[in-house]
Order: sequence, then C-alpha cells, then structure tokens
Amino acid sequence: MLSLKAFDFERGSEVIVPSNTYIATILSILHAGLKPVLVEPDILTYNIDPKKIEESITAKTKAIMIVHLYGKSCEMDKIMEICEKYKLRLIEDCAQSHGAKFKGQLTGTFGEFGAFSFYPTKNLGALGDAGAVITNDESLAIKIKRLRNYGSDVKYYNEVVGYNSRLDEVQAGFLSIKLNKLDEINTHKRKLAQIYLDNLKDDFIKPVVDKNYFDVYHIFNIRHKKRDELKDYLLKNEIKTDIHYPVAPHKQNAMKNILEGSYPISEEIHNTTLSLPCSFGHTEEEIYQVVEVMNKF
Ligand SMILES: *Cc1c(COP(=O)(O)O)cnc(C)c1O
Repeated sequence: MLSLKAFDFERGSEVIVPSNTYIATILSILHAGLKPVLVEPDILTYNIDPKKIEESITAKTKAIMIVHLYGKSCEMDKIMEICEKYKLRLIEDCAQSHGAKFKGQLTGTFGEFGAFSFYPTKNLGALGDAGAVITNDESLAIKIKRLRNYGSDVKYYNEVVGYNSRLDEVQAGFLSIKLNKLDEINTHKRKLAQIYLDNLKDDFIKPVVDKNYFDVYHIFNIRHKKRDELKDYLLKNEIKTDIHYPVAPHKQNAMKNILEGSYPISEEIHNTTLSLPCSFGHTEEEIYQVVEVMNKF
C-alpha cells in the first residue's frame, strides 16, 4: 500500500494484479484508493499470465502489481517488456519469494518496489508480524520512509498524510540475524521439494520446473481433482495439509460489488490445489513418509 501511495497516482487509477493472489495484495490496492484489475494466472505456473495482461490495459492503468506465488518468480522478461511498452510502474509482491530468482536475478529487484512480508510462516519469518519494502530509487525510498512514519522526515514535522507502518526494532534485530540463514532455509525446502518432484506419482499435478527459475517453495502445492478427499485421507494418516487458497478473492464476501467478472482458471486452481508439508522443520524422512501415503491414494 505504501508503494502505491509513493507514486501519487490519481484516485481511481487502475492496477493490474493476478486473480489468484492472497487477498492482501488486492486490499493494498483498494486501501491506496485505486482500482484492482484482475488478470488470470497461467495454469502451469500459477503466476499472472503475461499473454493476458495487455488486453486488460486501459488509459487508466498505471501499474502492475505482480505476485511471485508459492515461491516461483513470474515470467519477468515478458512482464518487463509490457511495463516498458505501456510505461507502467512495477511493484512485486515478494511475500512468498524471498530468495527466488528469474534467470539469476532476485525477485524484488525487477520493479520499482519489492514488498516483503516477514509473517512468521514465510521463508524469512519474524517472531511476529513484520514486513519491508525495497527499492533502488533514492527519491522513492525517501517517500516510503516518510509514509511509514506519519509522513515525517524530521520528528514532529509532517510533510504528507502518512501512517504508522514502522518495522518494530525487536523484529528487525531478529530478522537481521535470521537473514543469514535464508539460503540454508531455502536449500532445505528445495531439497524437500525435490523428493516430492522425484517420487510423487503423476496422478498429482506437480509444480513445473524450468532452468530459468530458481524456486524457493514457500508453498509446495500439487493439484488433484479429488482434492478434498485427498486432504481428509492424509489427515486420517496424521498428515496435515493446507489449501492456498480455498476461496478466490473475487468470491469473497468482502469483495461483493468490488470485484466483478468470472475467473475460471483461478477457480480451477482454488478447487484443486493442496499444500503439502515442506518447511524448514520437516526432515527428508518425513517427506518420504508423506510420499508413501500419497502414492497409495
Ligand atoms: C503473506 C502474504 C501477504 C501479506 O503479508 P502480511 O505480512 O500479512 O501483510 C501478501 N501477499 C502475499 C502473496 C502473501 O502470501
């Protein structure tokens, strides 16, 4: 939200966003007084489909807010091309992509802004709620710092209508130490993901792997037609799973009269996706156990 605010777009300007993101991305656009325009994801990568972005661009479109979902980068070459062609600003929601790369370049470094969440379950998680925005642009950095601190550069002198959105110092201190462990955390998650990729039966639609993408598997998801049945079966076998996400943003009660239209690809993902155990706290043996139970389904 602060990233969008920093651009001072005219009220009601449009921001393109993937239809299957976590609702927080869309809320940030609404809270910035802007209009979210939903674009469907690619059914293989679960990320915004670059081929569908252009048809959603209007004279009011000012920015694209992409999401590197589940820890996989979006198709950045194609997205950068579109941003340049239409002079659109780019904000990256990196809440699930700490350390993920596209052709060797880190997510969060393509757009003017990269927005990170350090919610405890993220790949880089704090001891409570926390987040940060990164940018290479000095003037935008000044604007963000101002906005997060009541619009003030100098204590008790306020330049703009800002917010209290500071990162708590205790969380910042904790994160500074844990940041050194991020590569280790990602390496472990990638190792667990590889076990699933190599050993799960093809009945389960597994995430795509491509040499241009360095995936960090914030979430390791599979898709299956009998997803709910599979979830119950796994729980009976003492394997807890989750669904990211059970309800698409445009189907949420909160979005009635705000988001319109139908998003069949998004709905297909929401109806079939299942997130398997894949955290820094899991061992390789545990993942092999999950695979064994899964393959008997
Ligand atoms: C977790 C998450 C957010 C929200 O992060 P907060 O720290 O709760 O604000 C936003 N977008 C995506 C894609 C997320 O996964």
